[in-house]
Amino acid sequence: MSQDVFTKYDLRKVINVSGRETAYGAAKVPDQVIRAVASILPHSVDVLDLEAAASEVVARVTGAEAGFITGCAAAGISVSVAACMAGSDLVRTEQLPDTTGLKEEVILQKGHDVNYGARVSQNIRLPGARVVEIGTATDCAEYQLRGAIGSHTGAAVFVWSHHAVMTGLLDLREFSDICHQHGVPVIVDAANEQDWPGILAMGADLLIFSAHKAAGGPTAGVIAGRAELVRACMFQERGIGRTMKCGKEAIVGAMAALELWENTDHAALRRENRVRLEKSARLLARLPGLAVRIEADVAGQPVDRLAIQVDPVDAGLTAEQLAAALSLGDTSIAIYALRAEMGKLLLDARCTDDAELEFVCARISEVVSSGPNTRPHPRPRQRHDHVLARMADWPVRRHTGRI
Ligand SMILES: *Cc1c(COP(=O)(O)O)cnc(C)c1O
Repeated sequence: MSQDVFTKYDLRKVINVSGRETAYGAAKVPDQVIRAVASILPHSVDVLDLEAAASEVVARVTGAEAGFITGCAAAGISVSVAACMAGSDLVRTEQLPDTTGLKEEVILQKGHDVNYGARVSQNIRLPGARVVEIGTATDCAEYQLRGAIGSHTGAAVFVWSHHAVMTGLLDLREFSDICHQHGVPVIVDAANEQDWPGILAMGADLLIFSAHKAAGGPTAGVIAGRAELVRACMFQERGIGRTMKCGKEAIVGAMAALELWENTDHAALRRENRVRLEKSARLLARLPGLAVRIEADVAGQPVDRLAIQVDPVDAGLTAEQLAAALSLGDTSIAIYALRAEMGKLLLDARCTDDAELEFVCARISEVVSSGPNTRPHPRPRQRHDHVLARMADWPVRRHTGRI
């Protein structure tokens, strides 16, 4: 390409210290994976065989019996639910979303119906299933799960995510033990998580994650689990999964990302990441009103981030204003702001090089040290309202950032 894609299309650069959100283009894909994707693009290939080869890689890396690659994690939820209802039966596969004669009920703890950019319950309903919610927003008990299981129960979905309610709900082991006592398969949406063998060991029959989040590949959804159910997921390519399929480039990209994962010393990476966070912490701790400390992932994954607690009086601005200010400018900084109402931001350094991380710290210093007149205007406090405001006049590019 003769011209940089950002210049050519007038796109702002984004430094993502929030995580690996799909909305920011997810992971930065390493050269090794890019080369693997490029190597398949000019060729024809038998996709069923390619998916079989991918199954072996997924099985090896996650410890599951088999694996299947689909469009994204959201697709993985719909495909898995469809697979549990239809099995490896092409007539039933073609029948969906008409669920006549199938076990169409899918159990979900209410505190797990999160909005990661779309609703988990909608992904479940897409192939025709009916969501049976159990518990309340903040709690769920075993008797409620037992009571919901009946002759129409086709599957149960468990969401492992920082978006989910963290207290008061059934954990995966409790949830899957009860489901398995009644022969109900457990589908785990762990889109952004990385302890795949651990999650499978806790009872997931089908585990779903994004190839483009923690796994660091191009956009795809990985399904790993029991061979019989994974085969039923593959059947969905001739049913509702057809609209969600991915091509040879995404399949090979997911395989290459997982192979790179396999050959990476993750403990060493975690140590290096902590050293970089400590350096940033020393810089940011000098700023008025910011209390910083390294914090392990709330969802229990082996990942550290820098927690920045903003005292609005001493810092002269709220955490929300700081996040909004960082998102403006020619280079937009995306920082994790889902806890901003509580004054807390999280800085995830894993998608940055040293220069980018220094830039982020410098921008935070600049914003906190600048006068009150430079504060961004108030905007909808709820992030989904903010996104909606941008969507409403799309395709106008407002360059106003988002949090
Ligand atoms: C990101 C996310 C998804 C969707 O992942 P995609 O691969 O972008 O479709 C689903 N569930 C949770 C919990 C997520 O964080």
